Amino acid sequence: MTNIRTRFAPSPTGLLHIGGARTALFNFLLAKKEPDGAFILRVDDTDMERSKPEYERGIMEDLRSLGLDWDEGPDKGGDYPYRQSERAHIYNEVFDSLRKNASVYPCFCSEERLDALRKDQAAAGAAPRYDGLCRHLARTEIDARIAKGEKPCWRFAMPDKTILFHDEIRGDLSFSPESIGDFVAVRGDGCPTYIFTSPIDDHYMKITHIIRGDEHIPNTARQQALLDRLDWPAPVYAHIPMILSQDRQKLSKRTGSVPIRRYMDDGLSPEALSAYLSTLSWTSPELLLNIFKESRDARELLLKMAGLFSFENVSRSSPVHDEAHLIYWQKESIKKQGTDKVYWQLVKAEPRFGVLPPEVLEKIIDESVSEFYTLPMLTDALLPLVERPLVPRLSEPWAEALSEVLAGVEHWNSESVNNALRSFMKGRGLKGKEFFHPLRLALTGRESGAPLPLLMAALGREETAKRAGHGKTDLSRP
Ligand code: GLU
Repeated sequence: MTNIRTRFAPSPTGLLHIGGARTALFNFLLAKKEPDGAFILRVDDTDMERSKPEYERGIMEDLRSLGLDWDEGPDKGGDYPYRQSERAHIYNEVFDSLRKNASVYPCFCSEERLDALRKDQAAAGAAPRYDGLCRHLARTEIDARIAKGEKPCWRFAMPDKTILFHDEIRGDLSFSPESIGDFVAVRGDGCPTYIFTSPIDDHYMKITHIIRGDEHIPNTARQQALLDRLDWPAPVYAHIPMILSQDRQKLSKRTGSVPIRRYMDDGLSPEALSAYLSTLSWTSPELLLNIFKESRDARELLLKMAGLFSFENVSRSSPVHDEAHLIYWQKESIKKQGTDKVYWQLVKAEPRFGVLPPEVLEKIIDESVSEFYTLPMLTDALLPLVERPLVPRLSEPWAEALSEVLAGVEHWNSESVNNALRSFMKGRGLKGKEFFHPLRLALTGRESGAPLPLLMAALGREETAKRAGHGKTDLSRP
């Protein structure tokens, strides 16, 4: 039996987004299901204008941060060059063999003609498809036009028969000859296209399974035709359903797709991200929650997920990207880390927190993580503990009376402060907002944040009084 070899083949023309990350994850999971499986990173950089080394680096960094390390790739060595830009000699060789048996032909059609053709087809309600005008040009005409300096593209002559392939998620798929025209294999400028290069790479890199988005299904039909012509075996295909936005549009920058990096910069954990991505067409949250809780880190979670991964459980219907679900996993993730670990991370992120008594800070962490569920959120929410706000003192008519009540609280802790605040508020007939809002503003300089009694307990009696503008000196005024 051959070992499983999967690949993730991003085009380095942008950052890694949700869709790409999920494709990478599923390919990783399938490969890691077996001890000898290999997950390969190939860089599809045939589009020289749009491909940028910084995007390649960025995609690699993001994959690594997610724990999706590859076994072979441009930076890892292995048996092949792993960037398409380094593989031109391979494509040329295949192209020459196809040229020899007339499987590709030069096409001189102008962009204007092709545009007009597409428009006519759209008006007639037909799928866009090259009509084959240049397929049977005479050798003499071809030579004459090339001699004149025209630069044709080269099209692959699709077979005049139905193309069949099996998809692990969709079942058997077939494409009639009328549905797909002759595709461009090599552009006028000599650059090969993705449709042409990808199956060649997959073949030489011995890729056994191709998992990618279902928007590639028509490309698969073209690529399968190419494999058939070359007499190369087909890999196993699995096209995963497209992720939709909340309003059921294709997920794009415009409809809310967010680069994975931004989620990580916002403090979402790799574990939470992987768990969330896996629920987009695959695991059910219930099943996942068990292995999530059992795993000590992102890597362990990934390997546990790999053990469960199978195409049978991949849904055919499109999942909807919902950040609320991502946040759910992040909350689970921070809960699982435990207060102690979060405490140390917090002190590392903001060393000034180190001056607070650990048990006080830990209590606040415990009570606040469900609302401030990332390290940056938590750091920000607790910053008033170590930074005095630049706001005017509490000027409400009840301010002085409150400071006296607070001065009389016996054991200064969150429970006693909470009780004092509540009974004061009730006694004065104040509504929650009328009371807590100005108080929070004076004490923290913020409109919202961690529970006020906890913050006050952590600030201590004196500091609280100072911030309220009625510190000891004020109180001692006649
Ligand atoms: N470079 C292609 C893309 O980013 C790869 C598609 C494939 O997996 O074949 O869409």
